[in-house]
Amino acid sequence: MKPCVLKFGGSSVATPERIKAVAEIIKDKRETCDPVVVVSAMGKTTDELLTLAYSISQNPPPRELDMLLSVGERISMALLSMALHDLGVEAVSFTGSQVGIITENKFNRARVLEIKLYRITEALEEGKVPVVAGFQGVSLSKEITTLGRGGSDLTAVALAISLGNVPCEIYTDVPGVFALDPRRFPKARRYRRLDYAVLSEMASSGAKVMHARAVNLAAKYELPFLILSSYEPDRGGTLVEKREHLESPGVKAITTDSVVMYDVEGREGVPLLAKVMGEVRVLNFSHDSTGRHLVLFVPEEERDKALKILSDLNLRFSIREGLSVICVIGWGVGTSPEIHETVFSVVGWEHIFMMSVSDMKMCLVVSRDREEVIVDRLAKKFGLYESPEG
Ligand code: ASP
Ligand code: MG
Repeated sequence: MKPCVLKFGGSSVATPERIKAVAEIIKDKRETCDPVVVVSAMGKTTDELLTLAYSISQNPPPRELDMLLSVGERISMALLSMALHDLGVEAVSFTGSQVGIITENKFNRARVLEIKLYRITEALEEGKVPVVAGFQGVSLSKEITTLGRGGSDLTAVALAISLGNVPCEIYTDVPGVFALDPRRFPKARRYRRLDYAVLSEMASSGAKVMHARAVNLAAKYELPFLILSSYEPDRGGTLVEKREHLESPGVKAITTDSVVMYDVEGREGVPLLAKVMGEVRVLNFSHDSTGRHLVLFVPEEERDKALKILSDLNLRFSIREGLSVICVIGWGVGTSPEIHETVFSVVGWEHIFMMSVSDMKMCLVVSRDREEVIVDRLAKKFGLYESPEG
């Protein structure tokens, strides 16, 4: 039978019960393909390991951080293999380095260079299910590396490509990709098929459904993949594939993310901007040509890092919290005056702190207490809720 890659995220393996449920899914899947399984760390394990590291040291060496974080996925791979054995399925767990996931010499955010598939082919030939630890590899200089937060998606996509573009299923806690976050907007429309480009824009603006780098890698090799829920696998999911030519212009999705605004005084900040952006993920910035102000928007997770860097550079700044960035995503969004007009009429100019427009995306920063109302109104205008007929 043909191999298939099945990836289970942190929420899918969060508890012993969930791990057993995942083992059942894998067992059933064996009737149609030979699963190669990729797992994330259980629930919030990676966050807990990070907290642990920073409770020991303010400045943990990147190498040791990767050594520590790679453990999370090793726990789930071993437990899942045990659960499979209990169901009579022979399974064997492997670390990223054991299967030859070769990365560049860089800790914490290494890129995958090559996958040797070392032990995987062997295990498949012996009729076993290989269970691979996601999010990690081994560098050219033989160090354990991690691929960046959320990197298990990347492991799954890279494996499916290396195996010859085999079917790839990403199991998460929602049954596919929705026009709005279904955890907050339960009536959101679900897509049965979606183009890579839309999901890539969604992922890079705060949608929690899949890692943006993994989507882009799949797009590059035209690897279609299915996103579905490990809680209700029978509901099906969203097939993400290349379908540009089939798309009509219009809004496909709205994402939100929490941001922090830094207002840097004086001219000193401008020449240091590149330095700041090398260390922190800056969503957007603006500065007026008089150079009196430099305004930076940073995702909330990066708040402390940005604070530290700006202070270290001896800049004078003020910080404004409680903001959200709302992004409206779809084909032609950047160039459609009708869409712009609708967005402005819903949001109201006076409430916009910052705005940016690109090909497929229009993003606005607003006060967080207005976020939900704005998203709801926009969703109604753009037809992003399920139609009553279903
Ligand atoms: N466990 C890692 C993280 O939490 C990788 C992943 O979940 O994909 O970032
Ligand atoms: Mg994840």
